[in-house]
Amino acid sequence: MKIKEVKVKTCMTKSKITDYVINPYVGCLNSCCYCYAVFMKRFMNITDEWGDFCHAKINCPELLEEELKKNLGGHVWLSSVTDCYNPAEKKYKLTRKILEIILRSPYKNKFTFEILTKSSLVRRDFDLLKKLNIDLGMTVNTFNKKASRIIEPYASPPDERVRVLEEAGRLGIKVHGFISPVLPFTNLEELFKKLVQMDKELQQKVVTRKVKPAPPSKVAEPVEKRMPEISELELKKKEREFGF
Ligand code: SF4
Repeated sequence: MKIKEVKVKTCMTKSKITDYVINPYVGCLNSCCYCYAVFMKRFMNITDEWGDFCHAKINCPELLEEELKKNLGGHVWLSSVTDCYNPAEKKYKLTRKILEIILRSPYKNKFTFEILTKSSLVRRDFDLLKKLNIDLGMTVNTFNKKASRIIEPYASPPDERVRVLEEAGRLGIKVHGFISPVLPFTNLEELFKKLVQMDKELQQKVVTRKVKPAPPSKVAEPVEKRMPEISELELKKKEREFGF
C-alpha cells in the first residue's frame, strides 16, 4: 500500500455532476473492485493498482478558506473520486480539517454540503456534521457481508453503515442511503425495505433514497474477477430484471 503526501493547487473544484466537489485524496483505500474512479490513474499518470495507493492532498484545508470566499455559491459534494473517510483519513484527518474550515468560514451559507461514504469513521465528525447541517449519505449495494468483504474490502461492513446512518439520523443529521452500483446479487427490495424502516424509526423525513442503476455489464468484469462464481448468465438476468 503506497501512501504519500502531495500538494495541490485547488481544493474545491467545479464539477459536471454537481456544482463543486472536494476530493481530499487521490485514490481510495476502500479498494472497491467496481470503482468508477479508476480513470484517475490515467488522468494522474499513476501506475499502481487502484485501491493500493492514496495521495493525501495535505494543503487542501488551507486552500479552501480562500476558495469559499471567492467561489460562487452552490452545492458541494465530498467526494466524487475517493471516499473522504477512506482508511487514510484516520491518519491525515483532512476531511475533518476541511469541515472545521467550512464551519469557521463566514461564507459557508453560500453553499450546501453533502458527504457520501462507506465508512463508519464518519462517526468521528458527527459533531461537525450536525453544526453544518450536512446531508450524510451511505452507499450500500448488498447486506451480504461476505460479498461486501470481497468486492469492497476496506469499507465498513454494510450493516455497520446502516447503523451509522441510524445514529446520525437520531442526532438530527440529514441522512440518505445511496444504493450503488446495482450488482448481480443486489437485493433492491431488501435494501429499500431497510431504508423505509429506518425512515419510520427515525420519525422524521430525513431519509432520501437514491438508486444509481449502474448497468451490471459495466461492473461485470471486475466483480467476476473477485467473485468468479457469478456467471454471465446471472448478470444478463439482472440486466433484464432492472430494464437496462
Ligand atoms: S469507496 Fe468509492 S471511490 Fe473508494 S474505491 Fe469504493 S467506489 Fe471507489
